[in-house]
Parts: sequence; structure tokens; C-alpha cells
Amino acid sequence: MKSKIYTLTVNTSERTQLLDITSKVEQVVKQSGVKEGMVHIFNPHTTAGLTINENADPDVASDILMELDKMVPLNDGYRHVEGNSAAHIKSSLFGVSLTVFVTGGRLVLGTWQSLYFCEFDGPRQRKVLVKVIE
Ligand code: ZN
Repeated sequence: MKSKIYTLTVNTSERTQLLDITSKVEQVVKQSGVKEGMVHIFNPHTTAGLTINENADPDVASDILMELDKMVPLNDGYRHVEGNSAAHIKSSLFGVSLTVFVTGGRLVLGTWQSLYFCEFDGPRQRKVLVKVIE
């Protein structure tokens, strides 16, 4: 019975931000004891997302956020009264889940890849659910 769902807490500090959660997910994989399988990561929020992208140059993350703001402006005559439609749209563009292979108890990622929690309506305390499957 290794089917537990782990909950990670992510504290974001900006309105929009890409936060590297790779080491947190790796810790969960280690804790689960699963050596060969896959890990599923789910973001249960409607104004945040998940993605995999480059970890070597932090300018990549800021370029992504900069261009996203051009594609989906913060204010654009949206109807949603809460005022955070841009964040909802970005969440749907990025998606809310990731699946990564696990082998030898480690995540299978490309050399420059990291897992990112994408904050689009922060700063907030967020949760990320992680399940490791054998
Ligand atoms: Zn809203």
C-alpha cells in the first residue's frame, strides 16, 4: 500500500512566479520508497499551473512570465468580477498536472529540466499534491 497522496506546501512571494519544486518532489519520491514507477503531480488551484522548463538560467523563467503577461494582459475588459481572469486563463494554458518517470528512485528529467509551480495570482500559500505510483 504505497498509494498515499502527499501534500506539499508552496509559499509564493510575487504576483506571478515560477518556483522550482523539483527537490520537494524528489523528497516525496524518496519517502515513498518507490524505485521504479512514476510520479504524478497535481495542482488543485484555478489560478496557478505546473510546467517543466529550464533551470540553468533564471532569465528563462522571467522571460516566460514577461511574454505571458503580453499574451494574457492583467486587465483586458474581463467579466469575471474577482479581477483575476488573467490568472485563470494562464492556469488553463499551462495545465494543472505533470507526470514524470521514476527510475532508481530518482526523477527522469533532461539535464536542464526542473519542475515548476507557476503562480499567476500571488503571493499566496499553495498546495501541490504528489502521488508516486509503482
Ligand atoms: Zn477568480
